[in-house]
Amino acid sequence: MPPSPITRKPTHQVQVGKVLVGGDAPVVVQSMTNTDTADVDATVHQVIELAEAGSEIVRITVNNDAAAKAVPVIRTRLDTARCPVPLVGDFHYNGHTLLQEYSDCADALDKYRINPGNVGQGEKRDIRFCQMVEQACIRNKPVRIGVNWGSLDPQLLARKLDDNAALPSPRPLETLTREALVDSALNSAELALREGLRPDQIILSAKVSAVPELVAVYRQLAERSNLPLHLGLTEAGMADKGVVSSTAGLVLLLHEGIGDTIRVSLTPQPGESRTREVRIAQEVLQSLGLRSFAPQVTACPGCGRTTSDFFQRLAGEVQEHLRQRMAKWKTTYPGAETLSVAVMGCVVNGPGESRHADIGISLPGTGEKPVAPVFQDGEKICTLRGDDIATQFIALVETYVEKRFGDTDASRTDTPSRPN
Ligand code: SF4
Repeated sequence: MPPSPITRKPTHQVQVGKVLVGGDAPVVVQSMTNTDTADVDATVHQVIELAEAGSEIVRITVNNDAAAKAVPVIRTRLDTARCPVPLVGDFHYNGHTLLQEYSDCADALDKYRINPGNVGQGEKRDIRFCQMVEQACIRNKPVRIGVNWGSLDPQLLARKLDDNAALPSPRPLETLTREALVDSALNSAELALREGLRPDQIILSAKVSAVPELVAVYRQLAERSNLPLHLGLTEAGMADKGVVSSTAGLVLLLHEGIGDTIRVSLTPQPGESRTREVRIAQEVLQSLGLRSFAPQVTACPGCGRTTSDFFQRLAGEVQEHLRQRMAKWKTTYPGAETLSVAVMGCVVNGPGESRHADIGISLPGTGEKPVAPVFQDGEKICTLRGDDIATQFIALVETYVEKRFGDTDASRTDTPSRPN
C-alpha cells in the first residue's frame, strides 16, 4: 500500500479497561448496544454477542435511573460470563446527576462519553460538564468528549456567525459549522484538562453524517490536537448506503494515519444482528492492512466463463468455515487470522491468483476439464476431482493451518482429517 500523504504526530495513549487506545496501539473496534440498558438480560446478551463478534469496547446508553442502576449488575453478569469487554456509558442531559447519584454505576463503567452539546445551555453547560469531568477525575476514568453535528452548541455557532457577518468577505456557512464543531471538541478538552483530567484520559470525536464533512472535520482535529480520535459517521444509514458511506469515510482518514478507534454506525434492518457493524469495522481495518482478524478469502466475481454458481457457493462455504473456525483458532493457531485463501472461477486468473494466496483453488470454468488444481505457498500441490471438491479443499485448508500455525498439542486434536 502506498504511504499515507499525512503523518500525524503520535497521540497520547488512553487506557479503557484493559484496552489501549491511541499512541502505538492498534486501531480499536467499538460498537454500541441498542437495547434498553435497564433490561439487564437483553443488554448482557447483546454485549456478549458484540464482544464475541470482535467488538473490543462496547458502549451502552445510560439515560435514566433504571439504566444507571442496571449498569453494575450488567458488569457483574459480564464478568461472571468471562466477558471482560470494557463498557462505556453514553450520557446526555442528566449524566452529571446520574454519575453523582449512582456511584456503583460510575465505578462499573470503564469510560464516560460526554457530549458537550447535550449537557445544558448557558452557564449550566460548563457547570454540568465539569461535574461529569470531576467524577472521571475522582475515579480515574477516561472520557470521550464526543461532539456531534446534530447537537452542536448553538451559542458557539451563533458567536461564529456574528463574527463572520462583520467580515468584509464572510466565509461559507459549512466552513463555520465545521470550525464550530472542532472548536467545541477542543474547547471542551481544554476545560476538562483545566478541571484535572490528564491528556491520557481524553479521547475526542466530532461526528457528522456526510463523508466529505467527516474527512474535513477530522483533518482539522488531527492537526490541532494530539489526543486520540474516535472515528465514525454519526448516522451512516441502512444497508449498502451505510456500509459504503462508513467505509469511504473511515478509509480516507485511516489511510492518513487519523483515527485510533472506530465505529461503524449502521442502522440494522428489523431483526438483523447488531454484529454486522463489528464485522464491517474489522473488514475495513483488515483491508487497509492495519489489523488482521480473520483469514481473507479472495474470490473472483465470476463471468460468462462460469455457467454454474459452484464457485460462488464454494467461496461462501470456505469464508463461513474460516469465520467459524477462527473462534477456536485464536487460541490453538495464533496467526491463522493472517491466512489468505483464493477461490477462483476458471483458468484465466485462477492459477495466478491462487499462487499469490497462501492456499488457493482454481475451479473449472465452462468447457474446461472438470478438475481443480490447488496451490499452496505458490506451488501446485494436487488436483481435486469429483463431487466433494468443497469438502476436500476445506480439509486441505485445515491441514495447511495446522502445519503453518499449530505447534501445540491442543491444535493437533482440533483438526479434521485430511482428504485422501
Ligand atoms: S477468474 Fe475466470 S471466471 Fe473468474 S472472473 Fe476471471 S475469467 Fe471470469
